[in-house]
Amino acid sequence: MVSRVIPVEPFDLVVFGGTGDLAQRKILPGLLRRFTDGQMPPDSRVIAVARSDMDSASFRARVARAIAETVPDSHRDAGSERAFLERIDYVMVDATGEAGWRDLAAALRPDVVRAVYFSVAPALFGPIAEGLHRHEIARADCRIVVEKPFGQDLDSARALNATLAAHFDEKQIYRIDHYLGKETVQNLMAVRFANILFEPLWNAQFVDHVQITVAETVGIEGRAGYYDAAGAMRDMVQNHLMQLLCLIAMEPPYRFDPEAVRDEKLKVIHALDPVAPGDIVRGQYNAGNGQPGYRDECGDPDSLTESYIALKLHISNWRWKGTPFYLRTGKRLRARASEIAVTFKEPPHSIFGEGERWKENTLVIRVQPNEGITLNVMIKEPGPGGMRLVDVPLDMTFAEALGAGGRDIPDAYERLIMDVIRGNQTLFMRGDEVEAAWAWTDPIIAAWQAREDRPQPYEPGSAGPEDALMLVHRDGRRWREISP
Ligand code: NAP
Repeated sequence: MVSRVIPVEPFDLVVFGGTGDLAQRKILPGLLRRFTDGQMPPDSRVIAVARSDMDSASFRARVARAIAETVPDSHRDAGSERAFLERIDYVMVDATGEAGWRDLAAALRPDVVRAVYFSVAPALFGPIAEGLHRHEIARADCRIVVEKPFGQDLDSARALNATLAAHFDEKQIYRIDHYLGKETVQNLMAVRFANILFEPLWNAQFVDHVQITVAETVGIEGRAGYYDAAGAMRDMVQNHLMQLLCLIAMEPPYRFDPEAVRDEKLKVIHALDPVAPGDIVRGQYNAGNGQPGYRDECGDPDSLTESYIALKLHISNWRWKGTPFYLRTGKRLRARASEIAVTFKEPPHSIFGEGERWKENTLVIRVQPNEGITLNVMIKEPGPGGMRLVDVPLDMTFAEALGAGGRDIPDAYERLIMDVIRGNQTLFMRGDEVEAAWAWTDPIIAAWQAREDRPQPYEPGSAGPEDALMLVHRDGRRWREISP
């Protein structure tokens, strides 16, 4: 196997919100891994920005502590860490004021790739975009990376897009959905479009149904303010699950190119049918297992926000008419597991007789943990005693199959940041995609708000509310087990 890593040019990456949780837990440790693996050119630099009063030395000490907390000892290398920390500077800037911008402009080099990561609350996107322009930091080739949530409805997403568009061209804007940076999610495209095997079967004629599951074991973890105003629909479905759905359902793009891929994803969103109220189940976790319930955690005893949602969707186009897509996501569930399962239809006729055990072929794309792809197929049970069928998995766990031992599968954030530096927008959401996703989501939320829909309670550690099981049972199907 020949490794062809696309090189990265030297860069200055400005991280607004450098002292924040995301920067400390994901962005900076991720960059360290790229640096250690030799993918971050040694003359590249990270310029962390926030209001906190500290110098570069204190900031580096803080990053060193964050690295010690987030990177397993087995993956640490003292020499690389020292060299990486030397590449980091800290500049104090108040995004909403005038202080510090000149220092930031002075810290940047004219002749390297320039990118600015907005790892801050969305309310600061506008002031930062304006500040970058006012202080001539935003060159025509400067890239900006914006985090989720990208709005909380269509109007706010449009307003955010307009704010960014006032200062940046769409080609400069990288809206992150870290699910798109996961190895398996990209492998989904490789499996679909680099093999002749699946694509002829990838339609309503042969696919019985698709399940997309993103299950978490954690609760809302101190994010009550944000989460209670958002809920699972806004926090997970409108972005992450929608992106997975698009990649599963889209037509083959004519090229693996940002505009071609995003055009095809957008068509899927446009083809989504409105969802009938009976095809949605919302849930809220109870207290249990020594942990508080959702309402205790969010501090509102009357909260109607869902911490779980399951939906049945239909895509009205030639490829998918008649194939249901079941989506579910929730917190405090049995296991942390994200997967997409494509279940194929039964063969038209069984030559093995009525009583013979049979199970559908299912292609399972595990997004996390243990990223990999499994296809279960029917074979003859080995041994004497006649023809008995048994289903076995054809398993491709990437870490094992490619000899990576887990070490070399980059985290989603590292991959996406390197794509920003390479100027490749394929794995980032375009403004019209985000707006289309909200345009589909808004009426669903408005409908349940209008009827004051109460989420159904579910037990922590379970698979979600009972009615969610019924959503697929009544169609004669079953949810897959939520297992790690
Ligand atoms: P956070 O921990 O609250 O950090 C916010 C950062 O913004 C801090 O570094 C803060 O530093 C800085 N900041 C606040 N006001 C500022 C101002 N006026 N000027 C300059 N800097 C300012 O938030 P976070 O969890 O890192 O999240 C950052 C963004 O990523 C948010 O949009 C969030 O929704 C998104 N996100 C986060 C996660 C995650 O796992 N944390 C996951 C997905 C998306 P000072 O107080 O020192 O200024």
